[in-house]
Amino acid sequence: MLENKNPSKTNISQLGEFGLIDHLTKNFEIHQNTTIKGIGDDAAVISSEGDNQIVVTTDLLIEGVHFDLSYMPLKHLGYKAVMVNLSDVYAMNATATQITVSIAVSNRFPVEALEELYAGIKTAVKMYNVDLIGGDTTSSTTGLIISITAIGNAKKETITYRDGAKENDLLVVTGDLGAAYLGLQVLEREKEVFKVNPNSQPDLDAYTYLIERQLKPEARKDIPKLLSELDVKPTAMIDISDGLSSEIIHICKQSNVGCNLYEDKIPLDPQVISACEEFQLDSTTVALSGGEDYELLFTISAEDFPKIKANPHLTVIGHITHEKEGTHLISRANTKIPLIARGWNAMQEDD
Ligand code: ADP
Ligand code: MG
Repeated sequence: MLENKNPSKTNISQLGEFGLIDHLTKNFEIHQNTTIKGIGDDAAVISSEGDNQIVVTTDLLIEGVHFDLSYMPLKHLGYKAVMVNLSDVYAMNATATQITVSIAVSNRFPVEALEELYAGIKTAVKMYNVDLIGGDTTSSTTGLIISITAIGNAKKETITYRDGAKENDLLVVTGDLGAAYLGLQVLEREKEVFKVNPNSQPDLDAYTYLIERQLKPEARKDIPKLLSELDVKPTAMIDISDGLSSEIIHICKQSNVGCNLYEDKIPLDPQVISACEEFQLDSTTVALSGGEDYELLFTISAEDFPKIKANPHLTVIGHITHEKEGTHLISRANTKIPLIARGWNAMQEDD
């Protein structure tokens, strides 16, 4: 990494992504009594008519940092950019209603390329029943930048924060984990093969699910609805964008609790298991730190267990403990391993 030439200046990497956000925003006060929740959750919450509340969330995607156009078709990129944002709305146990889309583009992109991007955005808004209501367009000197804001709403009592987990609650995850990260490994390997031999025809049949999870993720719109039908109000909820481990740590830190996560309960697709063997990766590490799964992680009161136990979308992977017990993975060999947030961190130092 670049040497810090001026010792009186602080490298961003010394703070990390969350440390930086906290450092920059800690002295901002809330002035409006309609601001129910500001910085610090998957989305901000604003009070509205009656007991209805609005949620707002925004994300920024940068070419070369978050996506590589050599294997990410623009149509898929548009779709995925919407999913990334809607996922944060669903993580509040809310319904998504509108998005704004802002782009910065260099003159390397013809209109046809941007049409592709917007074809993906259009498919996403149609499938997820949200409206594109605005944005901004400007030029960029380097690559493509996409910023999306998503808006949603829910009843005050339905909205679920990261800080409500209680001792003895169950830790539940939707879907399965680790596939998107392995999809990226497969695509990066094919990119290298293609560089050496542009005529090679990749056989990707064994990786279809992994590639789909990387290139065309789906946000869990079905989960707030399912929870409402099952009459379950989670005590805390977050979406899994950086990896299971760092999201569990967010819930535990903000709720002042600990947790035991059971390695043998982590849901994995068979393609994840076989690709891990092939790439010589540990499937638990991939699930814990891989990221980009866009599944939901939540805690429920143990009393609600009978309501969710038969559901194929939901897996109980652990339980909440007292804060002083810390956050641990209980391995298959029954050893207790401290969880560390090795999730993707844009500001991490390369060593
Ligand atoms: P997520 O992973 O759910 O998208 P982030 O980790 O990006 O959330 O952000 C954590 C919190 O910090 C959110 O409440 C977000 O709105 C806020 N945040 C992030 N960057 C900034 C910033 N530059 N200024 C103010 N708030 C920020
Ligand atoms: Mg989130």
